[in-house]
Amino acid sequence: MFVVCNAKKITAVLIVLIVLQLALTLYLCATRLPSADTSLIDFTVVIDAGHGGIDGGVVGSDGVKESALNLQYAKQLGEIFQLGGFNVVYTRKTDGGLYGLATKGFKLRDMQARKQIIENARPNIVISVHMNKFAQSSRTGPQVFYQSGRQDGKLLADNLQQVFNDFTGNSHQAIGGDFYVCREISCPSVIVECGFLSNPQECALLQTPEYRKQICNYIYNGVMLYLYST
Ligand SMILES: [Zn+2]
Repeated sequence: MFVVCNAKKITAVLIVLIVLQLALTLYLCATRLPSADTSLIDFTVVIDAGHGGIDGGVVGSDGVKESALNLQYAKQLGEIFQLGGFNVVYTRKTDGGLYGLATKGFKLRDMQARKQIIENARPNIVISVHMNKFAQSSRTGPQVFYQSGRQDGKLLADNLQQVFNDFTGNSHQAIGGDFYVCREISCPSVIVECGFLSNPQECALLQTPEYRKQICNYIYNGVMLYLYST
């Protein structure tokens, strides 16, 4: 479905990303103080799988729930960051939501619980993982959102969107908006909508392990570009 429009350019970008990642790892390892955790780099990424529990998020054309896919992507993304030596904290690691037993007013409690986990982790960045839906089923590809007025989040979002667009051939722009968690926390944060469940082909593709790994690798590459632009 996606058109790889400029293979040489993408290869060059990937080579640059690998070199940048190696340099970053060496730099951060050299400046890291000893600690009890297993990460190699003193840099924490919170990975927030959107929805969960009674909040399934959007539903795909084949009935797949966004909350389940978000969790799979979040775990894959966390593994990639851990392999890169980063410290990873998840807001949820199960299918359940974070709102407790009572369901009344669950959404705000769920959001507040995520905010608390993030504040406790004192992260450098937060990546919230979601799946998208749109009235026109022809729309495809990852789309990144950030809190309007937050330049740090916009910079992270722009770098991620650029990497995604190089991959898909799309010209999507990162979009500002008002999002509870992004608004309430102080570090750079983005919402990554990994693809459109409203497009039957992309909905099926998003459920394959290969595509999941590909998208998560692009998220990681986008963060590498961001780190070198700051
Ligand atoms: Zn969502």
